[in-house]
Amino acid sequence: MTDMYIETTSLPVEGREFCFEDQRIWVDPINEFHLPYRIADPFSAVLRIVPHADGCTVEGSLRGSLAIPCGRCAEEFILSVETEFHEFEAFPDLASRSDDAWWIIAKDGLYYLDVAGFLWEQLQLAHPDKPLCSLLCRGICAQCGTNKNVGSCDCAPTTGDPRLAALHSLKLS
Ligand SMILES: [Zn+2]
Ligand SMILES: [Zn+2]
Repeated sequence: MTDMYIETTSLPVEGREFCFEDQRIWVDPINEFHLPYRIADPFSAVLRIVPHADGCTVEGSLRGSLAIPCGRCAEEFILSVETEFHEFEAFPDLASRSDDAWWIIAKDGLYYLDVAGFLWEQLQLAHPDKPLCSLLCRGICAQCGTNKNVGSCDCAPTTGDPRLAALHSLKLS
């Protein structure tokens, strides 16, 4: 992960806006976690951080695009990402030392927001768990591996209408 932190304690009360275009924010974790993604259009993010007594409001937007394999046919396609977020990141509880928040507390007692971690999470939240090249993607034949979007095969369907499955077993017996 890229180290990129913003010290929030000294931000003005009305907050401050930051822009991020350093692709390492997204490229580093993609490489680190061996994800099958490529950045197709560079990502850019705008963040407005407003400090409060118990945390910070973090709002902004993220856009760019990923080349990513379809969850059904495995063909690479371009997934546009355009997302807006508005979150409250509470300062960590010093006693419990929970790791789920994007904070680092420096020796000087100031709170630093892990911007790279936050923006990586926004990208993860912005794309579906099983991205599809098209809602109509027909996937791959489980038997011969043919991409059914571009060709057909003669394999018998293994799943489908349970009434048909009953017919198949009738024929066999
Ligand atoms: Zn597909
Ligand atoms: Zn087949």
